[in-house]
Amino acid sequence: MKQKPSLFLDRDGVINRRLPGDYVRHPEDFHPVKGALQAIALLAPHFGRIVVVTNQAGIGKGLMDERDLDAVHRKMQALVQAAGGRLDGIYFCPHHPDAGCACRKPATGMALQARSDFPEIDFKNAWMVGDSASDMQLGHSLGMRTVLIDGKFEDAAALASMTVDYRFGSLLDFATRFFEKNKLNAP
Ligand SMILES: [Zn+2]
Repeated sequence: MKQKPSLFLDRDGVINRRLPGDYVRHPEDFHPVKGALQAIALLAPHFGRIVVVTNQAGIGKGLMDERDLDAVHRKMQALVQAAGGRLDGIYFCPHHPDAGCACRKPATGMALQARSDFPEIDFKNAWMVGDSASDMQLGHSLGMRTVLIDGKFEDAAALASMTVDYRFGSLLDFATRFFEKNKLNAP
């Protein structure tokens, strides 16, 4: 039997609403994108592993700490589970953008860590869903299928020169279309 694919999800702008120019520092600032929780629940049975990969430079900039982020992520997990979905792992890069770390997207460190934790992950049988050029670059670097969620206007110029496999208006849009025969499900 063919192994179920893996799903890599960006967080801000895909699962929760972005706060342009700011970070989601507290659970009360975490507001799901409309339909995103339902989307994860729809997708969950069809993916072997679902992991979040998120750049959280607010930590490296000293605007928040890892305890703040942990509280935000506990809320996210609780909401996802209450809606019938699941997240198998949440990976974050806490570093300042200038730190030159190996984990800040578009670098591949978080995805490689996920595969180290879940060795069944096969990047050739995986999807990267995000709203940023860096998400698409990460997906391309590892041979994943890429799904761009529209909305991050700051990245429009960078994205215009990039090839992505699919484009949707929201995670829910992707989730519902994912099941259309011979459309997205084809290998
Ligand atoms: Zn990092």
